[in-house]
Amino acid sequence: MPELPEVETVARQLDPLLAGRVIERLQVFDHRLDPGRPRGIRGRRVGRVFRAGKQVVIETAATGSVDRGPWLVCHLRMTGRLLWQEGRPRRPEHGRARLCVWQGAVDFVDPRRFGTLRWCRSEEEFAPPGLEPLDPGLSARRLGSSIAGSRQPIKIWLMRQDRLTGIGNIYASEILHEAGISPSRPAAGLDAAELRRLHRSVRTVLRRAIRHCGTTFSDFQGAQGVTGSYQQRLGVYGREGARCRRCRGGVIERVVQQQRSTFFCPECQR
Ligand SMILES: [Zn+2]
Repeated sequence: MPELPEVETVARQLDPLLAGRVIERLQVFDHRLDPGRPRGIRGRRVGRVFRAGKQVVIETAATGSVDRGPWLVCHLRMTGRLLWQEGRPRRPEHGRARLCVWQGAVDFVDPRRFGTLRWCRSEEEFAPPGLEPLDPGLSARRLGSSIAGSRQPIKIWLMRQDRLTGIGNIYASEILHEAGISPSRPAAGLDAAELRRLHRSVRTVLRRAIRHCGTTFSDFQGAQGVTGSYQQRLGVYGREGARCRRCRGGVIERVVQQQRSTFFCPECQR
């Protein structure tokens, strides 16, 4: 499942391709999708494309005015992709919907059909419930007060979308490795210095992954069908039995937490 860096990559790739283009229509091919039918979309422009939590948001705007919205909000879930195509291309296999714009189209391709697409009338409608990890205003103290009182293992806490948005199984392992914190530690047991390290690692790891356009795995592809290269830089994820790149002494181990694999180095993650 795409996590924050992969979704950010899709939004960043689509934005320069779509911004300013006049919208013609949204075609829906899969009737399991029910995006709604706001009036007056035709002839509006795409304002910008951005990420909100793990959703890709296509903002519409009126030409020559500050009037913004509605917003077309896509959650990719397991296998969803948004593919940009110039001109009037053929409908791709597993295409569930298509946003037609001036001289091009974005296809929502999703073989397993878990993804969602909806028109939102206000920004509150798609605001994620958890903290945004890359919000410049998110301090270590703010992160710490959200963690306070949680007896969950810190790895599990990091993946709670109602607390911190966009982090899944891969980056939770990577962040804890970078911070030198064991994934099984109770979240509330971290001291102030560890919270500062965790806060820094959350941002460092996610930003680094965004720079490399995310991690390539089963179905993630960026907006133009390119795949990320962060896979080669993963510190622990999928590296069971390999030498730790952080301390160079440990051997990466795998444990299962809530039916998901967690990878960590027993030497440098305490
Ligand atoms: Zn290590």
